[in-house]
Amino acid sequence: MITNRTFTIIKPDAVEAGSSGAILKMIEEAGFRIVAMRMTKLSPERAGEFYAVHKERPFYKGLCTYMSSGRIIAAILEKENAVADFRKLIGATDPALAEEGTIRKLFAKSIEANAIHGSDSDESAAIESNFFFAGMDIF
Ligand code: GDP
Repeated sequence: MITNRTFTIIKPDAVEAGSSGAILKMIEEAGFRIVAMRMTKLSPERAGEFYAVHKERPFYKGLCTYMSSGRIIAAILEKENAVADFRKLIGATDPALAEEGTIRKLFAKSIEANAIHGSDSDESAAIESNFFFAGMDIF
């Protein structure tokens, strides 16, 4: 099990808005080291696989359409207590409820187009990292 690592995606709305650089700056300034990163675009099917846990939710189809609507940046981040600290940095799922100064408060457009993903556990971080970086050298 990977510890002290989390996984993130800068989502299509934030990449399209040209906010990737500002978001990565916030991430680094909060003490996270970027240990792997790639820009890519998901097909609706791959987006569906990534969010399979939400298959039964009413917003699932819209989420898959949105997550495959443009380029994303996937990255693995390293820091002590990475998963919890990163969830704190990104803020609540709904930007209306996110704390001041969090990435979602600053950059999210809606509860769906909420700028950024952060893994919710060490186990999810390992699975999600593998989803994007399987077979690649991670240092
Ligand atoms: P997260 O861990 O904060 O990203 O939240 P979840 O795992 O619960 O949801 C995954 C993603 O689905 C969120 O980041 C949003 O992009 C989207 N989402 C979550 N809840 C809703 C909702 O109620 N409506 C819509 N349209 N999208 C949602």
